[in-house]
Amino acid sequence: MANDVNLAYSSTWCPGCGNFGIFNALKKAFADAGLDLEATVLVTGIGCAGKIAQYLNTYRIETLHGRTLPVATGVKLANHRLTVIAEGGDGDGMGIGMGHFIHTARRNLDIAYFIHNNQIYGLTKGQSSPTSDLGAVTKFTPPPLGNVERPINIVQTAISAGATFVARAFTGDIPQLAGLMIEAIRHPGFAVVDILQPCVSFNHLNTYQWYRQRITPVADLPGYDIADREKALSLASLWGDKIPLGVFYQETRPTFADSLPQLAGPPLAARPVDDISIAGLMAEMA
Ligand code: SF4
Repeated sequence: MANDVNLAYSSTWCPGCGNFGIFNALKKAFADAGLDLEATVLVTGIGCAGKIAQYLNTYRIETLHGRTLPVATGVKLANHRLTVIAEGGDGDGMGIGMGHFIHTARRNLDIAYFIHNNQIYGLTKGQSSPTSDLGAVTKFTPPPLGNVERPINIVQTAISAGATFVARAFTGDIPQLAGLMIEAIRHPGFAVVDILQPCVSFNHLNTYQWYRQRITPVADLPGYDIADREKALSLASLWGDKIPLGVFYQETRPTFADSLPQLAGPPLAARPVDDISIAGLMAEMA
């Protein structure tokens, strides 16, 4: 089934780009989870990450930069029976889209959000991003200082804002990434996977080798407890000699749609509209 999701377009990602691993993991996740392509929607932002929507044969929207989550929210509320997957880069989600990220997390929308975190703006040719490491030398942050802005920690931010499934993965380990994607898709609530993704053209610091020397399973670290928010935040703070991967935190909480009685029953998109009087609504708001 994995090939069923392939489109005939050729990719414009650079050879060796970490996006290929994410693409292959997503196809594997679709196949292994047996997702119904007729009932799955992929929403992406703009950037190298957003192009994944151009290569995958499911319902998909490549929306505006930073507006991935509002569009995904609209899709989910219009038809809460759909599986909704959102994808975007660290610039898209942690820069212009940060407000939407926080509010989607606190509302606990039932959306799986996969962040292609290459710690740089790749499509615009290599400027520092909100997740660039301190000291990273980019076109915006020249030597000798490099980047002087403290990077956003996606895992900590997601947990703090109220996401109910929070994980980190590496594009160089496709089976693990696909497995975490499936867990995120099946989780009832806002599920975030921070995917470490080398940009071979513009990020010469966070390379495949750099990550492989540091990544370690979070479940092997002392104090690990998937249900303990404080411990998850503490383990998520590790970023240096050790970079933990895996599920940091998971809880069960009513989703946004579960909390709205008007969404109980058939999806809004399937309800008849013939008996709705627009004139009456307009008069109410006048
Ligand atoms: Fe990948 Fe970087 Fe090339 Fe974009 S610029 S396609 S992120 S290697």
